[in-house]
Amino acid sequence: MKFNKKFFLVVFVFLIIMGFVIFEKFKNRTIEDVAIIIGSVDNIENIKFEKISESLIQDNYSLNTKYDTDDYFINNLVNAYGKVPLINSDISINVNALYDLEDLFKDLNNHNYDNIIVRRGYLSCSNENDCVTDHRTGYDIDVYIKDREWEDFEGHKEAKYFINNAYRYGFVLRYTKKDNYQPWHFRYVGKVFSYLIHELEYDIDDFVNNLEVNTIYKFNDEETYFYKVKTDNIYIPKNIKYEISSTNSGEYVISYSLKTLTKLSETSDEFDFKLNKLSNENINYNLILVNEDKENKFLSDNIVIFEENKKLDKTVLESYSRMKEQANKLDNHILFSTSAYRSYEEQKEIFEEENSGIANKPGHSEHETGLALDLATDEKKVTYFYGTYIGKWVTDNAHEYGFILRYLDNKENITKISYEPWHFRFVEEMHATYMYEHYLTLEEYLNLFDLNKKYIMNYDNKNYLIYKYEVNDGNILKLENSVVYYLYDNCYLVITEM
Ligand SMILES: [Zn+2]
Repeated sequence: MKFNKKFFLVVFVFLIIMGFVIFEKFKNRTIEDVAIIIGSVDNIENIKFEKISESLIQDNYSLNTKYDTDDYFINNLVNAYGKVPLINSDISINVNALYDLEDLFKDLNNHNYDNIIVRRGYLSCSNENDCVTDHRTGYDIDVYIKDREWEDFEGHKEAKYFINNAYRYGFVLRYTKKDNYQPWHFRYVGKVFSYLIHELEYDIDDFVNNLEVNTIYKFNDEETYFYKVKTDNIYIPKNIKYEISSTNSGEYVISYSLKTLTKLSETSDEFDFKLNKLSNENINYNLILVNEDKENKFLSDNIVIFEENKKLDKTVLESYSRMKEQANKLDNHILFSTSAYRSYEEQKEIFEEENSGIANKPGHSEHETGLALDLATDEKKVTYFYGTYIGKWVTDNAHEYGFILRYLDNKENITKISYEPWHFRFVEEMHATYMYEHYLTLEEYLNLFDLNKKYIMNYDNKNYLIYKYEVNDGNILKLENSVVYYLYDNCYLVITEM
């Protein structure tokens, strides 16, 4: 009797444990299993969110969008010929997706998997049926195995590798076993979302549907954050570079990372802070602010000719030439400048031809300094510079050569100039990197520094002391071993390595 009681108790406990184990294994995963909720867009420390209207959104990625009439998708297509294996040379893919797809194929190649071929990329809306397809976004690809029917993709060893590793390059299965399984059809969603969807074992629709609106999630320890917003209530992180993805449900999902941001902090520490007088010749103008309000007060005294009779400051040209050399290795297209230094008279002509909002009035254009240039490739017209293979690379790497994209998307209220993906301005690497990482215009960057306060910027493992001041007595001051930048009006920025 005693034995039986004990026996049943043991069996009972065992069954409970087994039941729990089975339940854990088969219960649906939730977003909270892989990400932590850290707050909502209107209540979170350190970061401010600002509301923008949907019409301002241009460079969007796609999560589960099926089709879209937005020109954005079409403007960012590039021909994939020569970059990844294709069934024919006409296949176009979104430029963001293509860069990562190339890496995925390099990975396959390293494993001697050489039989996978892309058989479909972007599809145009040539008839009614074609209009309702994932392939209209340019983010979708169908792959197959050479010499096989495309339907029996999955059985092959190479296909298994592709299916299991695509997420590491931003691609996920568009149709999983849950519904209408298509093991050959992949959607590029970017690496943040592909990792999330992979870890959750979700399909894209599940992922989008399971996100709480306006709730900010933190994913992994790499300081990656994401959240979903409604179209009539779009919040973006202020002064941080972000990516925005459209969905089938009309919502947007936004992600951003705080991992690699260059740090800037105000300091009240005592420094040996002797300012000495400086002669005018030694002023650095690379941060000069020229815009609708601030008239140009600088012209490089070292303007040189390049390309077809274009003119530019000599130092800026050296940086541009280094960037161009790298850019031209990427592709059989070439990078060139459509406009660089312009005299007051030339700017006047352009201004009179164009409407304001496109060109600055004479005396107020950066082109008059010799520090700015407009870029294009022979792949597409200048308006679509970002949507070219080289243009995408330049946009993401120009800061390493000291250039910023001067007229950013969504910042027209600050710059008074609409988004210009082609206009680059030289400001030196450290400043360019800070502005790139924080998605700042030059106006916003210079505003980070209050007058007569000391700041420290950590860049490239060095600390820089930064101090902004006004000159009222005509004596420009400098620190020991410092660089003095003229900014605007009688404002200067002095920077010294600590
Ligand atoms: Zn320009």
